[in-house]
Amino acid sequence: MKNGKYYRIRKELVWGMGLLAVLIACTGIFGAVKRWGESHTDKVLTERKVLAEAASELEDPENCYLCGTAPESLMGYFRQFDDLGVICVNQWYVLDMGILGQDIPDGEKKGTRTSMTGTGEGGDFFSSTQTPSRGISTVEVRYGEDSILDVEKAKTILCQKCLDKLLSVMETYGPEGEEPKPRDLCLVDFQTMELYSLQEQYTSYYIRDYYVRLDQTEDGMEIEAVYAPERIRGNLQDILS
Ligand SMILES: [Zn+2]
Repeated sequence: MKNGKYYRIRKELVWGMGLLAVLIACTGIFGAVKRWGESHTDKVLTERKVLAEAASELEDPENCYLCGTAPESLMGYFRQFDDLGVICVNQWYVLDMGILGQDIPDGEKKGTRTSMTGTGEGGDFFSSTQTPSRGISTVEVRYGEDSILDVEKAKTILCQKCLDKLLSVMETYGPEGEEPKPRDLCLVDFQTMELYSLQEQYTSYYIRDYYVRLDQTEDGMEIEAVYAPERIRGNLQDILS
């Protein structure tokens, strides 16, 4: 009798310990899976996405909206300015940042100019503040419903060289397996016709004598460009005088 009872308690104890061990193992496995999931999620969010090459459907390169003379593009007019511009590609709208106010007479360069521009139905919305006497221009962009780059549209208005250039500044980062969704925006240097990315992974860069800072906002982005030439020559003059 005594032995039997003793045996039964031991058996329950063994079962209890077994259950506890299984429970601990499960918790451990669950924790490990959770940690793997978290680290995996981090990786998923930073997958680099590049747009596939596309063939231009523009028959005459002379009609290219970026390097050609298409009257609808206004780029021919802007090329005369030492300035940067923001291009809304889907609606093809070019906003002259007016950093140095080269389009206004010297006597009128005092103070601050503000303007608001819609780029067309479903397009992005620009609100700009320019202080040409200081060489500062800020453009606030509010994304329209149609703000994801339409490659099909770009194929019809750009020559092959310019289309390649545009697609090369459309690199984005996003969840694994998802289609790339670059915004239909880029920055252009009117003097060199080079394009620069306005995708969200960038925060600042220099274009010749201009410093450009980018900030993401709730429903768009803010682009600030400042005329900031190198001061090496100025410093040398200070030393010599
Ligand atoms: Zn072109």
